[in-house]
Amino acid sequence: MPEIDYRVDRAVAVVSFANPPVNGLSHAVRAGIAAALQRAQTDPEVRAIVLTGAGGLFSGGADIREFGTSASTADPTLHRLIELVETSVKPVVAAIAGACLGGGLELAMAAHYRVASADARLGLPEVTLGLLPGAGGTQRLPRLVGVETAIDMILKGEPTPATALAHTELLDRVVAGDPLAAATELATSSDVATSPPRRTRDIPVDEPKVATLCEAARARLRAEWPLLPAPLRALDAIEAAAQPFDEGLAVERRAFLELMETPESKGLRYAFFAERAAGKIDGIPPATAIRPVEQAAVIGAGTMGAGIAVALLDAGIPLWLVEADQTALDRGLARIAGIYDAQVKKGKLTESERARRLAMLRPTLSYETIGQADVVIEAVFEAMEVKRGVFRALDRVMKPGAVLATNTSTLDVNTIAGFTGRPSDVLGLHFFSPANVMRLLEIVRGRATAPEVLATALRLAKALRKVAVVSGVCDGFIGNRMLEGYSRQAWYLVEEGATPDRIDRAIESFGFAMGPFRVGDLVGHDVSLAIRQRRRAERHGYLCSTLPDKLCALGRLGQKTGGGWYDYPEGPRRPAPSAAVEELITSHREAIGVVQRGVDDGEIVERLVYALVNEGARVLEEGIAARASDIDVIYLTGYGFPRARGGPMFYADSLGLDRVLERVREFARNPHGDPAFWTPAPLLDRLAASGGRFSENPRPAAPLAP
Ligand code: NAD
Repeated sequence: MPEIDYRVDRAVAVVSFANPPVNGLSHAVRAGIAAALQRAQTDPEVRAIVLTGAGGLFSGGADIREFGTSASTADPTLHRLIELVETSVKPVVAAIAGACLGGGLELAMAAHYRVASADARLGLPEVTLGLLPGAGGTQRLPRLVGVETAIDMILKGEPTPATALAHTELLDRVVAGDPLAAATELATSSDVATSPPRRTRDIPVDEPKVATLCEAARARLRAEWPLLPAPLRALDAIEAAAQPFDEGLAVERRAFLELMETPESKGLRYAFFAERAAGKIDGIPPATAIRPVEQAAVIGAGTMGAGIAVALLDAGIPLWLVEADQTALDRGLARIAGIYDAQVKKGKLTESERARRLAMLRPTLSYETIGQADVVIEAVFEAMEVKRGVFRALDRVMKPGAVLATNTSTLDVNTIAGFTGRPSDVLGLHFFSPANVMRLLEIVRGRATAPEVLATALRLAKALRKVAVVSGVCDGFIGNRMLEGYSRQAWYLVEEGATPDRIDRAIESFGFAMGPFRVGDLVGHDVSLAIRQRRRAERHGYLCSTLPDKLCALGRLGQKTGGGWYDYPEGPRRPAPSAAVEELITSHREAIGVVQRGVDDGEIVERLVYALVNEGARVLEEGIAARASDIDVIYLTGYGFPRARGGPMFYADSLGLDRVLERVREFARNPHGDPAFWTPAPLLDRLAASGGRFSENPRPAAPLAP
């Protein structure tokens, strides 16, 4: 329950509000603060008011538990509370420690003075939800920090350290440690006592400057983020700050209400809640025991092993790094040093921090030395025989209770667990490349994985600052299993008539970070070739274009061999269409007897995205994913799906599943490719018929399938 504390100290009413975990401005908090303000107005002993958050932070903003409920708009609204603060006849000083975000900052900006601790972080993150600060933030921030800084803060949505704002009117004082004493001292000072009320709304905004700066920012946005309306609308509101305050506020209000209804904001808000839901797992109650992770081991120091090692070191977890031979070990160490060198060069890391992290790394060629690690993450070649050797060795040397994880992209985690005499300690920790950068961690729960081991993995993910999603065991787990169909459609589309560049551009215009051919060139085609070969051997009648195999046969394995689907004459960031690939495609079409036809961008996007949706429906129905939003989180954080579209399942829901099904049926009539590919998933079929949505689909009866 939220608590409001009111006490009087040297003629200052100190109003402190507590609503863990982030002092969200719930209805009860707003009502409590309003009542305390009222009490202070009429309290003859009180000359000034200090407003502060309890527990070491001011406020993280709205209470997200109230989103969509009547409590979020119940009186006093945040607007009303802000008005009460700003119009208070007794001066109000905000004492700001820790996070002061969103509505929290909007509230603080209505105070007449602000004192922050040096470690406070202030920001307006609303654009990340497709909205704008809707409680005066776009009007007060430019008045306090200047138009340029306000544009920067509102458009980026990231918190700014108090120290970087110390020179602005936003902060009257920045102090070391708890700001409460300094705020109380300021509130009792003669300056405050003798000055007329200092209302932020009365500060003028320099008009010609605001128009010029907003126009320049608009031009940048149109080039970089043409899809997103929120930053543009935020600029309109900031520009209106040059008008009388109430008119500006009305512009902000209109824009806020419009943005609430945009599909982009709906997608972004959905994504926000989907990430929070992903951490909740059936069969893992909050009280599940968690094993301590104080030291780790990583097996294999290739692309993934090196990145995983960096992710662990960044989280302060010391580790052993095991390789097969000295040359590979040296290469791996150089890779890790290279990652840190680049960060030092960019000014993101100090030399001493680099040295401190590298000192936690213990390279070794011997499994015997790593027995005391709490968690081992294996990242050796993607071949069952190699994994068998590693897990047999781990079973021999690891202490009882060590968590044994594989980073396999596609192999059967149950089989791998079976290489040990302790399958309940085994699970998949599927990192994405580069492992120290990508936010997603797909946690693969094996048939025997103990709840405690899963809970430990979830905690580790948090320590590594990853978004964790739990998947059941199947070929490719959630992400790569769905990607298979997406890739197969991309290759079929080339066979039918589109160029790789055309396909990449179409899906990038839809909002994907990168199209399938550019991604393929980046990660290398040898990996997917090996996977295709395995699938052809394992699955009877597996149909897949041989075009990518022919590309590999030309030695065009991607950027690492100088070219793949594209040439790279001007470096890795500038793919150029390749004459050799064009020739390859023409001769491939001749060989398979396909006559080139026109393929439009709409078809490209639909075939790629609906391939994801149809397989996602199977993944959901089989219980491989616990909920549709988990699938969406995987695609948003690991595969570059446009966040503003919410992920493939949410996107399909928002289009209407009947419409998706109709197109799937049309694609099934296409004579080219694999006729069985577009067989509608039974869940898609049923939901389309009943007017349902994936997001409302009841959870599978069983917990996650093994
Ligand atoms: P890689 O070829 O870059 O690295 C593998 C490393 O393992 C090599 O350095 C090799 O010397 C070492 N190794 C082989 N056998 C070993 C053994 N018995 N003991 C110790 N070290 C051994 O491969 P990668 O791309 O880093 O992939 C590693 C694993 O991660 C694979 O299972 C792969 O499927 C998975 N994965 C890869 C990606 C990716 O994008 N590359 C993404 C997610 C998962």
